[in-house]
Amino acid sequence: MAKIENNLQNIREKILAAKETVQAQQDVQIIAVTKQVDIARTQEAIAAGLVHLGENRPEGLHSKTAHVAGATWHFIGTLQTRKVKQVIQHIDYLHSLDRMSLAEEIEKRAERKVKCFVQANVSGEASKHGIATEEVIPFIQELEKFSKIEVVGLMTMAPHVEDAAEIRQVFQKLKKLQQEVAALQLPYAPCTELSMGMSNDYEIAVQEGATFVRIGTALVG
Ligand SMILES: *Cc1c(COP(=O)(O)O)cnc(C)c1O
Repeated sequence: MAKIENNLQNIREKILAAKETVQAQQDVQIIAVTKQVDIARTQEAIAAGLVHLGENRPEGLHSKTAHVAGATWHFIGTLQTRKVKQVIQHIDYLHSLDRMSLAEEIEKRAERKVKCFVQANVSGEASKHGIATEEVIPFIQELEKFSKIEVVGLMTMAPHVEDAAEIRQVFQKLKKLQQEVAALQLPYAPCTELSMGMSNDYEIAVQEGATFVRIGTALVG
């Protein structure tokens, strides 16, 4: 298995190069998705200088938070309403706010404000979670009534296809939507961030404005 340090250096160089091709200016945070690796490998990620760690299941999150210090925790998977209680106190960011019942449960259970990404299903694939593009703004407007939810940005997953143009289009649409939400200047929804890009498409995502990329396989896998 390659050292995380080496993978990280490689990814950082690719992010820089991707930014240069389009003169992108944004800061890009790398979230190490540790869902498929053990605690030792997760600790290696921290030792390599990574701060942002992502898990997609409550079980994985709990085993890692108990043994890995110094991380900012991102919950990136679909969150079942009945699991909110056991997850919400342990995370710094939720990337998968995708329905009103989840927002209501967060409001009920969270002891402090939670930084949330609203997950959008930009590609329209039936298999993907997330709110349909045209419903994202009405959904966010409805979140005004909650005191524990801060909409820091939007998240999406691109379709798993070879066609880079198709992937790019999805990221461009999310960026456009993010700008529309930000322009509303809602105090609870600054919506300045874009969580998009994984191992196979993060360079495209960075070119299209990603501020958080979620990388598992290419970094720690
Ligand atoms: C697993 C996962 C990732 C990371 O995927 P890789 O292809 O291993 O980089 C990113 N985002 C979400 C939501 C995931 O579930």
